[in-house]
Amino acid sequence: MSHQVIEPATEQVLEEIPRAGEEEVDAAVARAKAAFPAWRAVAPGDRAALLRRIADAVEARLEDLSVLEARNAGKPIRDARGEIGMVVETFRYYAGAPERLLGQTIPVAGGVDFTFREPLGVVGLIVPWNFPLTIASWKMAPALAAGNTVVLKPAELTPLTAIEFEKVALEAGLPEGVLQVVSGPGSVAGKRLVEHPDVAKIAFTGSTEVGRGIMAGAANTIKRVTLELGGKSANVVFADADLEAAAAAAPIATFANAGQDCCARSRILVEKSAFDRFMETLEETVEAMRVGDPLDEETEMGPLISADQRSSVASYVPDDAPVAIRGSAPSGPGYWFPPTVLAPVSNSDRAAAEEIFGPVAVVIPFSGEDEAVRLANETIYGLSGSIWTRNGARALRVARAIETGVLSINSNSSVRVTTPFGGMKQSGVGRELGPDALDHYTEVKNVFYATGDA
Ligand code: NDP
Repeated sequence: MSHQVIEPATEQVLEEIPRAGEEEVDAAVARAKAAFPAWRAVAPGDRAALLRRIADAVEARLEDLSVLEARNAGKPIRDARGEIGMVVETFRYYAGAPERLLGQTIPVAGGVDFTFREPLGVVGLIVPWNFPLTIASWKMAPALAAGNTVVLKPAELTPLTAIEFEKVALEAGLPEGVLQVVSGPGSVAGKRLVEHPDVAKIAFTGSTEVGRGIMAGAANTIKRVTLELGGKSANVVFADADLEAAAAAAPIATFANAGQDCCARSRILVEKSAFDRFMETLEETVEAMRVGDPLDEETEMGPLISADQRSSVASYVPDDAPVAIRGSAPSGPGYWFPPTVLAPVSNSDRAAAEEIFGPVAVVIPFSGEDEAVRLANETIYGLSGSIWTRNGARALRVARAIETGVLSINSNSSVRVTTPFGGMKQSGVGRELGPDALDHYTEVKNVFYATGDA
């Protein structure tokens, strides 16, 4: 069976690839299991060198991988270059890990006690279509660094860079079976990976709904799971903030990647006394956004990933929606949707409560710090968010009070290779990136060595 991969900006077939089912997943897991003993035995320094070689090999192919990602995911080429650059950075960062997976020595009676951080075995990675290779690298690099073998299932909508990556890694010297890409439908190939008795852990990024099913499916075999799920993050703007800076930065924090970003700050909470001034700058910035051909160097926002995604997004903007600002979008082929701001909106409205995963932001007025915190927390999600204020003490108070895994103050940037990323509440379980990710790809083993009496 084969599967057509579509280019979202043109609606044309980009490539036709084989479609994996349960049999292919089983075969990949068997190869990964067979490759595990030798891979975990590779000397830490050699494993580190190999990860660095993979980073170098991706860097050498940065332009063509970026173009492929831009075309397949419909993202602006400048963003795609940044993302493939992050893949390189992620592999370089975790190349430092094999030689630093330190254990502890613990004082005990009658002997010596020490811990090891052991790899888990075969790890299954299931990733979405919004940041295809980047999100895969957040999982692959620490998993491989810790000595696990990996079976990666990309989203069927965007498998192309993952398939290329597997070749690049093999050419760079990664042994056969250590990393395999299996492209097939989530409901078949993904599900099999989740239920497979020889898979020790699933690291998943995607919707909260599928995440729930993965957690349930993993229960049978007591698999470890890391889940990076949806978000509906608040961008809290106090009247004492640099309003121009906050308003100028808000659109890209929601509309980058056409809003298909779990970290999108799509609930903009603005203190009432600053509401009108904020909206003025917001309008100028949204209307100036360049929406169009992903391969144009000037483009800031591309199309949505699919026709289905576009109709799902459109359902949040019915004819009677309070559209305050609407940007531009090309007509003709492509899954286009203009950047759209709904205001004022109540926090309980559907557009404010659900993850839209498209270029639609809501602006919600609030009065005072307590209400801001209450509204920010009134959601099932808790992934990212921002606080804009010139009052440092308030910034810290609110940062501690907001129930979310990743926050920025006077900034909207939340994802860095070197710092932990992940959600609270129904936005997920576990942390990726930074030093914390390694905890989720290793198991602590405690060994007691009796020394007896002298
Ligand atoms: P999904 O959660 O369905 O897809 C994510 C990944 O999981 C894909 O690789 C998918 O495979 C796979 N998958 C799907 N079903 C199963 C299953 N039963 N068992 C194992 N794996 C499975 O997201 P969608 O692509 O459907 O997007 C829907 C919504 O999810 C979006 O509108 C958005 O709200 C949210 N989302 C959030 C993301 C985030 O980063 N937090 C990322 C993507 C989506 P395949 O697609 O190949 O069938």
